[in-house]
Amino acid sequence: MNDRLECLRDELRALLGAEHVIDSDEALAGLSKDFFWYSPVLSRQLDGKRADLAVRPGSIDELRAVVRFCFRAGVPIVSRGAGTGNYGQCVPLYGGVVVDMARLDRIHSVAGGVVRAEAGARLGTIEGVARAAGWELRCLPSTWVKSTIGGFLCGGSGGIGSITWGGINAGDNVKSVTVMTCEEEPRLLRMEERDSLRALHTYGTTGFMVEVEMRLAPKADYEQLILSSPDWDRLLDWSDRAARNDAWHKRLVTQFEWPIPSYFKPLAKHLRSGEHASFLLVARSLADEVIASSAAAGLACVYRQPLPDPPRPPFITDYTWNHTTLWALKSDPTVTYLQSGFGPNFREQFAELHRRFPGEIMFHLEWMAGGIKFTPGGMDGTGGHIVIIGIPLVFFRSEERLQEIIRVCGEIGVGIANPHTYRLEEGGRHPNIADKRALKAEVDPAGLLNPGKMKSYPHNRFELAPPSAGAQG
Ligand SMILES: Cc1cc2nc3c(=O)[nH]c(=O)nc-3n(C[C@H](O)[C@H](O)[C@H](O)COP(=O)(O)OP(=O)(O)OC[C@H]3O[C@@H](n4cnc5c(N)ncnc54)[C@H](O)[C@@H]3O)c2cc1C
Repeated sequence: MNDRLECLRDELRALLGAEHVIDSDEALAGLSKDFFWYSPVLSRQLDGKRADLAVRPGSIDELRAVVRFCFRAGVPIVSRGAGTGNYGQCVPLYGGVVVDMARLDRIHSVAGGVVRAEAGARLGTIEGVARAAGWELRCLPSTWVKSTIGGFLCGGSGGIGSITWGGINAGDNVKSVTVMTCEEEPRLLRMEERDSLRALHTYGTTGFMVEVEMRLAPKADYEQLILSSPDWDRLLDWSDRAARNDAWHKRLVTQFEWPIPSYFKPLAKHLRSGEHASFLLVARSLADEVIASSAAAGLACVYRQPLPDPPRPPFITDYTWNHTTLWALKSDPTVTYLQSGFGPNFREQFAELHRRFPGEIMFHLEWMAGGIKFTPGGMDGTGGHIVIIGIPLVFFRSEERLQEIIRVCGEIGVGIANPHTYRLEEGGRHPNIADKRALKAEVDPAGLLNPGKMKSYPHNRFELAPPSAGAQG
């Protein structure tokens, strides 16, 4: 650690107390990682990247002082929620200071169908508080128990509930966000309604999100269902109809191609060997009707379990969205994944991918409303219809082969949000990237916030530094 960092560490200790300034190698290694190891490409690029210090401010005033000190020292600053992101989003590329938002977790209010919370509040806690008041989150990632509302808005996209409400970008889901700028005298900047979209999914490059207001949905009681069939198309036809049936209130429609269900070890006694499976969260009052409809279509209901309120495991959502990939990796470390969006001709697209890459791709489909529109070039957040997105599993052969699959997807109109890059713009389409870049210029004039992640931001003073820990001199 150089003199400047030692001096910064002393200032931060005096400010926060030594227990909230972390400098041990082991703890820093953990606080510098997320789930980028899902990707063999990112593992190669990011393994070993490490912050020089991590801090846990306990109030907005403490955060302001931390930012001021770091700004003066000219070191990179990376915000961290629960560190459950998938693309190395919170991995510091050039050392510096990780700001763990865990202690900024107050839930100020749940009122009038809106939650107002500090960015470090966990989604699981918010869901519990909201449900006690008659509400529920409109959409939440499958990591909802652990991940933070700020991390979801800065790094995530959608998940459970998105079948009805779309993702974070959709409609009026986000009422406001407040970010702290990274300047000599940090300011708070509040953005409301659609104006707040420029601060979403920017990997912490456009300010520290300190407070969020998200709209809620009236709460419902849910039944967790798993349907099974040896016939992929039969299950697909029914799941697609169910997803598009507005009269059925639901929070999840997911379909897995065999052998993906074989990876879900805790569910082994329910799942049928060799059969594809669909996982659903439907309003409890509709469960009998849904099961009768699926039986009439020749599907077997192999699991039925009410979701308790307040929520208590087991949750079938623990197998959906990007949890699926985690279960697969536990069984077979040679598996990796893609994030794709299929068109209205999804049946032909599935067949074509199987034909071009036999035995290499296994389909995991999620149905989603609004929020994300797919184009061959990627995704954007302005859709308004039900789409099928996929998080297909791929047996990893080489980086070239992965690129080949991505290229063919583009060729046949399957949109790809590439999960094998840590650069914002390469991971998905950002139709409002100019707004995001302008916001970054306004809030981060010295380019200290998570440098290297917003590729199209022209100013990265750390680029020439050695690409590893403690790089800034
Ligand atoms: C098993 C698994 C399943 C997942 N399923 C989903 C899913 O269903 N849907 C989905 O969208 N994502 C999913 N993810 C990704 C991730 O879990 C979510 O996006 C989650 O909401 C991230 O929250 P976090 O608190 O862990 O954020 P982190 O990983 O800590 O941070 C994410 C990004 O946001 C930035 N950030 C965090 N807090 C702030 C802040 N206060 N201000 C500014 N920047 C900040 C970080 O710098 C980083 O760039 C999954 C990941 C895993 C490992």
